[in-house]
Amino acid sequence: MKLRPAFCASLFVFSLCFLGSAAWGQEAPGPGALPATAMPSVVQVPPEAQPSDHFDAVAATNAYLAQIPAQARARSDAYFEGGYWLILWDFLYGAIILILLLHLRWSAAMRNLAERSTRFKPLQTLIYWTEFLLATTILGFPLTVYEGYLREHEYGLATQTFGPWLGDQGKDLLVGIVLGGILVMLLFGVVRRLVRTWWIWGSIVATLFLAFTAMIAPVYIVPIFNKTTLLDDPRITGPILSMAHANGIAADKVYQIDASRQSTRMSANVSGLGKTLRITLNDNLLRRGSPEEIQAVMGHEMGHYVLDHVQKGIIFAFVFVVAAFVFLRWSLEWSLARWGERWQIRGITDTAVLPLVLLLGSLFFFVLTPIMNTSTRTDEFEADMYGLNASRQPDGFAQAAIHLGEYRKMNPGPIEEWVFFDHPSGRNRIYAAMRWKAENLKLFTPPSGN
Ligand SMILES: [Zn+2]
Repeated sequence: MKLRPAFCASLFVFSLCFLGSAAWGQEAPGPGALPATAMPSVVQVPPEAQPSDHFDAVAATNAYLAQIPAQARARSDAYFEGGYWLILWDFLYGAIILILLLHLRWSAAMRNLAERSTRFKPLQTLIYWTEFLLATTILGFPLTVYEGYLREHEYGLATQTFGPWLGDQGKDLLVGIVLGGILVMLLFGVVRRLVRTWWIWGSIVATLFLAFTAMIAPVYIVPIFNKTTLLDDPRITGPILSMAHANGIAADKVYQIDASRQSTRMSANVSGLGKTLRITLNDNLLRRGSPEEIQAVMGHEMGHYVLDHVQKGIIFAFVFVVAAFVFLRWSLEWSLARWGERWQIRGITDTAVLPLVLLLGSLFFFVLTPIMNTSTRTDEFEADMYGLNASRQPDGFAQAAIHLGEYRKMNPGPIEEWVFFDHPSGRNRIYAAMRWKAENLKLFTPPSGN
């Protein structure tokens, strides 16, 4: 799953990875037998965050942060900072694999095999893609196991044993062959027919495909990995549906997903597009979040929904895809003029060019990491503000931010946050919640004596 981000970055697999992250708002973490280094299971509202006439947002924020045990903070910092390096290792490891495929002419050999198998061009492309995905999955497997299995277990975030985890990897590969195969066939079809303007038509096709996969994901892809059911506990759905109706969302259903099958992380998301758009809570959140926390998280997710973040994300992706294709048009020509013959690649219409496309694409998106993160983080901040206004649960928000701190550094520096964070940092989220509370103190009945 994790060598993907390097490839993810690249266009062809972009939409597949998008599915993973169409889980737009990973909110917070999880349960089970909590290790000593975990965040507190129940986060109390500290005295400094109680309403009073001397309420101070900074003091309230610090009081919340002080509830995190030092060990838990050290562990979450180590996990998250390790992730910075993994962005680099994923990119480099992926790049080495792709360069090997080109340099050893394995890519050319895979193309030859595909051409010997059939005369039908789109089918040749599909066969090549399958060979390519199998080869890169096998070569990338050591890093995938470390990143997706060993490391997650080391930090107590994974719940699967190796067998089921491997099973999920197999399913992931099959989804990649099918969906990636369709996209690659479409794009090579465009390149072969429109040799001069492929980059613009290709961008349109890739973006439409992205929208299509986002639309089918909740109905056809998510169920491959997890079970989604209707949530029918009125104590939980009541306040959520009431909040939805108050915000003009005509929802009458809330879904839950058995995310605990894979992970201890608490999360909720808005997924799908158009008729398949839905709000889903995961079972870790249901089990471990306080009612206020659940409402705060759902308010945030409704913010994504009402503010059309999925649609805007697709439009934003289009801009990036066009930029990437323009870069590819130039850089492919340049690279093929230098090494094309040596790698036995006949040109941009030849499927054997794919590792080069992905290499250049992953370079492009690797460099743009801070921009992509900032774009996502901006949406997340908007959803936070919306969620605070909709749920009126600033303390629930702070609780969620602390739980989320199990796998996300709470208190980064500003540049660190700008480069690496795809959500606002825990500290900033708690502060935003406490600032909101400070300005809305009249909503909270002060306990007598205050
Ligand atoms: Zn979100």
